[in-house]
Formats: sequence, C-alpha cells, structure tokens
Amino acid sequence: LPQEFTDAIPVMEKIIAAGFEAYFVGGSVRDCFLNQPIHDVDIATSAYPEEIKAIFKKTIDVGIEHGTVLVLADQGEYEITTFRTESTYQDFRRPDQVTFVRSLEEDLKRRDFTMNALAMTTEGEVIDLFDGVQSIKNHEIVAVGNPQERFFEDALRMMRALRFASQLDFDIEVKTLQAIKKHAHLLEKISVERIEIEWVKLLLGQNRAKGLALFIETACYEYCPGLKHQAQALNRFLKLPSNKISNETLAWLLLIYKLEVNNVSKWMKQWKVSNKMIQDLTAGLALLKIRLEDEWRSNMLYHANPNLIQLVEDAREFLGKDNDYLAAISLYEELPIHKIQELEVNGQVLMQHTQKKGGPWLGETLHELERQVVNGDIQNNQVDLLSKADELLGEEA
Ligand code: ATP
Ligand code: MG
Repeated sequence: LPQEFTDAIPVMEKIIAAGFEAYFVGGSVRDCFLNQPIHDVDIATSAYPEEIKAIFKKTIDVGIEHGTVLVLADQGEYEITTFRTESTYQDFRRPDQVTFVRSLEEDLKRRDFTMNALAMTTEGEVIDLFDGVQSIKNHEIVAVGNPQERFFEDALRMMRALRFASQLDFDIEVKTLQAIKKHAHLLEKISVERIEIEWVKLLLGQNRAKGLALFIETACYEYCPGLKHQAQALNRFLKLPSNKISNETLAWLLLIYKLEVNNVSKWMKQWKVSNKMIQDLTAGLALLKIRLEDEWRSNMLYHANPNLIQLVEDAREFLGKDNDYLAAISLYEELPIHKIQELEVNGQVLMQHTQKKGGPWLGETLHELERQVVNGDIQNNQVDLLSKADELLGEEA
C-alpha cells in the first residue's frame, strides 16, 4: 500500500473497532492501480455522520448534508463519507438530497465510472463489483451500469468522462461514448461552475488533444459557454503542440487567443471565473498580441509583472516562438522604477514646488514623469524630475 493509505489506516481501524465498515474509495484507489501520485485519500464508511463524530474527538462538518465529515487525526486530516445513494435525481442534475445506507454495494453503484467504483480494505483487498480493474488495464472509461441512465441522473458525468480521457490518456468505451453523443445537450442543465471545473482539468490533462477531440466529436462544446459553433477554432486550438499546459491561466489564454475572443471580460464572465483571472487574461492577451509582433519594450514590461511576463512567454512557446522569459525578466528587473510610488516626487512635493493647488494637472504631470523615467528619458531624482515638471507645465501655460 502507498504511504498515503498506510497513514490513514489507524483512523479506519478506529471506525472498524466501533463496529462499522470503512474502505478506501474513489480516485485514490484508481490512481494507486495506475501508479500515479495520490492526492486525497477518500474514505467511505457504513457509519452515519453522527456516529463518526462520536468516534473521533476532533471533527469538522465539511459537507454533512452529503455525509462527509472531516476527521482531524494525528496522522492527518481525512474526509470520511457515509455510504449513500442518490435516488432522487431531478432535471438531469446531481441531487441535493442523498440517502445514507449501510451497504458498500449501494454506494459503489451510484459512482460514475467503473474505474472510480473500486473500494479497498485496510488489508489492501480490492472490492471490484463492476470490473473496474479490467477497465483500468484496458485504459477505458466505462459508465457504471446503463450509461444513458447515468447521464440522465447527472449530465456532468459526460464532461467528467472527457476530462478523464485527457487526464489519464484513456479511451471512452463505445456504449458510454454513444450515450454522450446522444445526450450531450443535457449539459445545458448543468451549472457553469461544475462544467468549468471539469473543462479546466481537461485542458490541463496529459493528453489534451484526446480530450478535445472527444469534446468536439461528441458535440459537448455546443453546450459550453462561448463555444457554440466553435468547432473550427477548437480544432485549431487542438493542434497546438502537445506539451502539457502548466496552469489554468495559460490554458484560458491559449484558448481565447485561438478563439480570437475580442471582449475577454465579457467572454470569460460567462464561465464565472474570478475577477483576478479575468484581469490577468485581459492584460495577458493584450501583451501576447503585441509580443508576437515585437520585442518587450520598457513601458510594456512596466505595465506587466513577473507572472504576466511568464504567462506571455509560455504562451509564445505554444505558438511556435522562443520562450524569452529569462531575458525579459532581467530587463524587467533593470527598470528604473516598478511603480509610480517609486518616483522621487509625489503629488505633495509637486504642489509645494509649483505653489499650485491640486487638479487634473497633477496626475497628468506625474504620469508623464513616470513614463519618461520608465523609458529612460530622464533620471529618477528630485532635481531632474522637478525641472522636467516645470518644463512640462511651462509648455502648457
Ligand atoms: P481526481 O483525482 O481528479 O480528484 P476523482 O476520481 O477523485 O478524481 P472526484 O471529483 O474527486 O474525482 O470524485 C471522487 C469520487 O466520487 C469519484 O472517483 C467517483 O467515484 C465519485 N464521483 C464524483 N463525482 C461524481 C458524479 N458526478 N457522479 C458519480 N460519481 C461521482
Ligand atoms: Mg478526488
């Protein structure tokens, strides 16, 4: 057993000692079979949330309505989820009501794909009711039970299939794939936030091209924000070099570049991403477009920051240009100032020097001084700045 699992065993043994069942389940068991790094160990149990809380001293209700309690043990924190069924699906969405059950089998049945429906005991014995191990060996994504019914219950599972195809470099089993093609339109019922999580994972996966090809083939893109009728642009995006994309911002930037999005803010808002993400992408796309035609100039660098410079250079690399991050960052560091506060004069000093009251002239003058210092036209010292200010204001008068 991997270390992450052995660490969790004392916690599970406490549950078992209290007369309940406890198993490793979900993605961690799958990743264990794939010899892939394990992020979070999920534990499922026959104990109800209140029973779990009675067993452990320190617990937090992280998702008690879904049956999940976080146990704070000496070895670490573990999410323990009560076996449950999700019987009351309405309108093709994941139900907000769940029923707790005592049977592992019931719990495994409601899971999405056979590879995700494995359970493992503390002894390392695998419970494989749906041939999940074989599907992992075949590198195949297979719905648990009838795929059509499963996508009717929760249409997000279709996007999950595509993201696992990209993430794990697996194929989608033929009946499961057919059902996605047939019911892709049900994605319209799913919240953008849930789709976005799977979409980003697809974009960051090891075989992005595979995930995207399936996304196009199944027509799921028709039901995603801003992607309707965009098969051609998505195909262009698919043909980018196959390197893994290192972060979410870069993924979005490459996508909106290839889609030729004009209004970044409006387009990205459809995906309900954070304002920070929208800001970075707005600045990033503008800088990328300039940078594809030209060298970094002092004023461009000044209006960027190391993260943005990295983003733009990484994007260039995907677009077949050199990644000049190191050269760009050393130019950035050599800039005489990095923000207006670093100017050796400020509004106060300027007003005192000129004996003028505040007004629009003040900001305008400061910004002109800032521009000239950044461009290396004048030095950043008070004498030079004030004489330049006199000159600027004299011209105006
Ligand atoms: P990752 O490694 O990306 O976390 P994961 O398989 O752990 O992958 P999660 O979204 O963390 O994916 O979900 C944990 C488990 O819960 C899954 O393995 C699956 O068994 C089950 N699951 C998650 N979402 C669904 C869903 N929409 N329908 C059915 N089962 C689901
Ligand atoms: Mg997980």
